[in-house]
Amino acid sequence: MPETALRLRFYPDPALRKRSVSVKQATDRHREILSAMSRIMYADQGIGLAAPQAGVNEAMIVVDIGQGLYKLINPKIVKRQGRQALEEGCLSVPGVCIKVRRSRKVWVRALDENARQLDFEAEDLFACVLQHEIDHLSGRLIIDHASFIDRLKIKKRLQELSRQANKSEGGIPPAYQAGLAGKTKNERVPESEAKSCKLQL
Ligand SMILES: [Zn+2]
Repeated sequence: MPETALRLRFYPDPALRKRSVSVKQATDRHREILSAMSRIMYADQGIGLAAPQAGVNEAMIVVDIGQGLYKLINPKIVKRQGRQALEEGCLSVPGVCIKVRRSRKVWVRALDENARQLDFEAEDLFACVLQHEIDHLSGRLIIDHASFIDRLKIKKRLQELSRQANKSEGGIPPAYQAGLAGKTKNERVPESEAKSCKLQL
C-alpha cells in the first residue's frame, strides 16, 4: 500500500490488536510512514499516534504534545518512576474516555528516523502519551485499562463502533466521517455517547 494511502484505523480493526514487529533497519519507507502518521495525527488534533493506528504493525510512534514532533522507531521503556492517572481518549476509539493509571516518569530508548539511538526521560503528560503509544505496539488499548464500571459505561459505544465497522466494511465509521466533513468534534459521535476527552492519542 502506498504510504500516502494510510488512514486512521478504528476499533475493532484487527491491526489495532496485533503486536508490532521491531524495525530491523530504518529505510525511506519507514520515514514515509512516519510522515504519513504525523499528518494523520495533526489532521485529527491528536498529540500522539502509533503505527498500528495507521494499519502498520511495525514499531513506530509519533508524539507532539506541543513541544515539537518526535518520530520514534522501536521505542522501549527502560525505567519507570511514580504514578499518575489522566483521562485518555484514543483517536482509534472515538467517543471513549478512560482514566488510565500509568507511571509519572519514564526513561525511553528508541531510534530516530535516521536510526540514531535516542535516550531520554519524560514526565507527566509526555510520559503518559509515550506509554499510551507504546501500549499500541503490543496491541493494548485504553479500553483494556477500563475498570469494571468503565466497561459497563463504554459497552454500548464499543458495540456501536463494531456495527459501524461492519456497515462500512472496515472503513471510516459514518459518525466519524461526518466529523471529518467539517462538523465540530463533538458531532463526530452521538450526543448520548460522547464524552469529551481532552487528550486524543
Ligand atoms: Zn490511542
